[in-house]
Amino acid sequence: MKKTLVLLLLSVIPALAVEELKDVGISKYAVLEVLKDNTPLREKADEYATRVTHLFKDAVLFADKQNDNYYRVELKDGKYVWVNKKQVEVQGIIPEKRFDNIEKISFKQERDRYIANINTPSKSAFIFKEAGNSLNFTLFDNRFDPTEAEVKNKEDNFKFANLISNEFNLEYESYTPLFGYIAQKAEKGYVVTIKKSPKINVKKPLKHIKIVIDPGHGGDEKGATAFNLEEKTINLQISKKLKNELKKRGAKVYLTRTKDKKVGLYERTAYALQKDADILLSIHQNSLPNPKDVYKKHGVGTYFYNKQAEPLARNIKDSLKEATGFKDDGVNYASFALTRPTLPVSVLVECGYIIDADEAGYISNEKKQKIIAKAIVKGVENYLVESFGNSY
Ligand SMILES: [Zn+2]
Repeated sequence: MKKTLVLLLLSVIPALAVEELKDVGISKYAVLEVLKDNTPLREKADEYATRVTHLFKDAVLFADKQNDNYYRVELKDGKYVWVNKKQVEVQGIIPEKRFDNIEKISFKQERDRYIANINTPSKSAFIFKEAGNSLNFTLFDNRFDPTEAEVKNKEDNFKFANLISNEFNLEYESYTPLFGYIAQKAEKGYVVTIKKSPKINVKKPLKHIKIVIDPGHGGDEKGATAFNLEEKTINLQISKKLKNELKKRGAKVYLTRTKDKKVGLYERTAYALQKDADILLSIHQNSLPNPKDVYKKHGVGTYFYNKQAEPLARNIKDSLKEATGFKDDGVNYASFALTRPTLPVSVLVECGYIIDADEAGYISNEKKQKIIAKAIVKGVENYLVESFGNSY
């Protein structure tokens, strides 16, 4: 009985939600301005729905429908996303969607990166999409007119084109895997940065690699607790050992915290960006919402969000699993603040389950922590050799 009722409700609610949508005005589109950096556009009008992309402050969007809490934005023909009403301000109502003309695209190359400046009057929504070793930067509500726009120093591995409707696409092609990319706001439009593949010495893969280690939680955020252990403490102990081991192998290493203090999630990712790190490793110990489930899940698991980070997550998980003998808790796709960055390549590591007596004993033991640290180092090295070892 109960099941039937739930199914009924599930099938009724979305239909109602659509009917409740109202047009934003007599004319078709409301012009919205984004109030804060890092504002998500979501697949559904729900704060837990998948994030499609993030926007910067002052980005402009066009909404055609609304419900009580969200505006519906048409990114392109038939592709709808949602933005929370609290995160935008209505600038006015217009009969048709506006688009901008890109004024100039200029390319620049540095030792370890490509930089493309896309000059355009307003900051429209964009999406990055990885396709194998290639990367697409798609900018909505923009057009490139070859008779009007200037192009400076185009590199051969970049292509660009107007897609359907008012959608501009910049494609980066590479023979080697991606190693971090980001779009940042410029005075006019965006700066797209794409890191080149690193030159890897297979005998000392970590040489010249910059790594930020993020010991999860801290201060009054203890993380998971069990057996009189606090996750935040174990995270910091392992992170410090990991730093030493990485340095021994030639990497440049920074920690987002070296003490027991509270650090915001976005402070951590901003720090990694500011240090111009290649790799970001967030160190955690796992738990389950209901400790009674302790027999259901065990072991070492890693988490990634962007495809480019999957090989790193896989290599760290494999190496940790082999070293500890823990069960395999998988290479998992998850949208966390510490897995979402596209620069650096970002992975979250759950070394073991603090609520499992055996694993808790292991991860809190100083000698075993050294084994964990060394295994993570080996995982990072294996990733670098696997991805970039044959390229030079
Ligand atoms: Zn944690």
